[in-house]
Amino acid sequence: MLVLGFESSCDETGVALVKVPEQGAPQLLAQALHSQISMHQAYGGVVPELASRDHIRRVLPLTREVLSQAQVSLQDVDVIAYTQGPGLAGALLVGAGVAVALAAALEKPTLGIHHLEGHLLSPFLSADAPEFPFVALLVSGGHTQLMRVTEVGHYEILGETIDDAAGEAFDKSAKLLGLPYPGGPHLAKLALSGDALAFTLPRPLLHSGKPDFSFAGLKTAVLTQVKRLGDSPSDQQKADLAAATQAAIVEVLVKKSMLALKQTGLKRLVVAGGVGANSLLREQLNAACAKRGVRVHYPELSLCTDNGAMIAMAAAMRLQRGVATLQPGQAGAGGFEVRPRWPLDMRVA
Ligand code: ATP
Ligand code: MG
Ligand code: FE
Repeated sequence: MLVLGFESSCDETGVALVKVPEQGAPQLLAQALHSQISMHQAYGGVVPELASRDHIRRVLPLTREVLSQAQVSLQDVDVIAYTQGPGLAGALLVGAGVAVALAAALEKPTLGIHHLEGHLLSPFLSADAPEFPFVALLVSGGHTQLMRVTEVGHYEILGETIDDAAGEAFDKSAKLLGLPYPGGPHLAKLALSGDALAFTLPRPLLHSGKPDFSFAGLKTAVLTQVKRLGDSPSDQQKADLAAATQAAIVEVLVKKSMLALKQTGLKRLVVAGGVGANSLLREQLNAACAKRGVRVHYPELSLCTDNGAMIAMAAAMRLQRGVATLQPGQAGAGGFEVRPRWPLDMRVA
């Protein structure tokens, strides 16, 4: 069985083709991605209307690229998956609209996928794929959650952020330091030449005893330091502040992940989402997990941020386990729905 997947929830247009064998792990045959980052950079963040228009421009050429890479024709595709939510409504509608239209033309079913389920299952695309059950640390631009994952579709949220997401904390702090959008990777790079001990920043909720997070106060603390440095901070001061910010975010993520592992008694951690690409986070999680005999899994670096492969993979894993509600793709089969707001624990098998 072949699954074609579309991702268009925010500022990346992703298309991918995954093969679902009778037995064994699904296999990524081809993928193509277009990031709109350079387009939105001038505005310091994602402009929803521009995002939707660009998805429209990119989605069909990317689809052709994927099919030609895999040497497969559209008629060979069995199921068309797309990100149904959460995300920007107009952006989601592009992927959903194309998927449903293709499905109607081909008379093949569609499958709406939860974007965070895609992130969560993206480590299954790595050579060292995890096994269920595990604790998942989902750290993306819009979400920061710790979950107990017992199987595909069984997601129990153990704790989450009460305000900003970890990626947001990276991005907002980076903006205060004058770095381009999205700031996470830029801040991480600048931090390499900085001394994290040069500034003292808060670790909100570190000792709350629960796997919950709060990052809004950290951003305010960074703002206070930026103001204190005045109009012309030195490159070293900026690097030091970047390092201190990163250290604060990473320490909280690591400590809370260890708490969730302790509370659940699970011995496996799966990290997913854009911030999962951060090398200090990986280094410190590796060390903390090694100490506790916990196995830790990450997505490949290129699959941490949004992509089509994770959507096609999530669809494939659902199909293999028979936990997929397929919509018939027939002309006149009815409308479709996107879900801009959609908690993952509502997405049960
Ligand atoms: P969501 O999935 O919650 O809807 P999103 O799709 O925007 O949000 P992702 O694509 O998973 O989020 O991740 C983007 C985020 O990851 C951005 O905030 C970005 O700054 C951050 N990020 C990417 N690479 C790094 C890195 N190396 N270090 C820190 N942050 C990073
Ligand atoms: Mg993005
Ligand atoms: Fe995402």
